[in-house]
Amino acid sequence: MAKDISKVNYDDAPEDIKGKGKMTEAIGTCKFCGQAKAVRIFPGEDADQVATNECGCYEARKEHDISVSVSAVSKAIDKKFDILSDVPEALAAIKAALEPVAREQIDNATFKISGFTFIVTTKDGKLKCIKKYTEIDEANENGAPE
Ligand SMILES: [Zn+2]
Repeated sequence: MAKDISKVNYDDAPEDIKGKGKMTEAIGTCKFCGQAKAVRIFPGEDADQVATNECGCYEARKEHDISVSVSAVSKAIDKKFDILSDVPEALAAIKAALEPVAREQIDNATFKISGFTFIVTTKDGKLKCIKKYTEIDEANENGAPE
């Protein structure tokens, strides 16, 4: 849903937002529906991107939902799967799979790392990363191999 920017008090904005510099008015165009609207942007920010983020059209809302869920799942992975912090390349590969899976360009992506299986997938339209560990043991004609 489009945010009503007229109700935002920028003087009360958190420090990290204030640190970006002084906001200015600009006209941006939604890249999906082409609707032009007045937006407030920070120096260096793209007015069209801000207008697209704030637009209420279907495509813009879908795009917004994808970026919100990719970012949320990415943070959840950092928080929950600390084993991946030891393997930054694996962490980066899993995170790179989030967006194409969220966009349904890839059905799911499976990564096998240090005995664990990580699956990036969607369930009921929700993006998620699942960690599995399957211990396989075997007793055969040679006895009980290690
Ligand atoms: Zn739009």
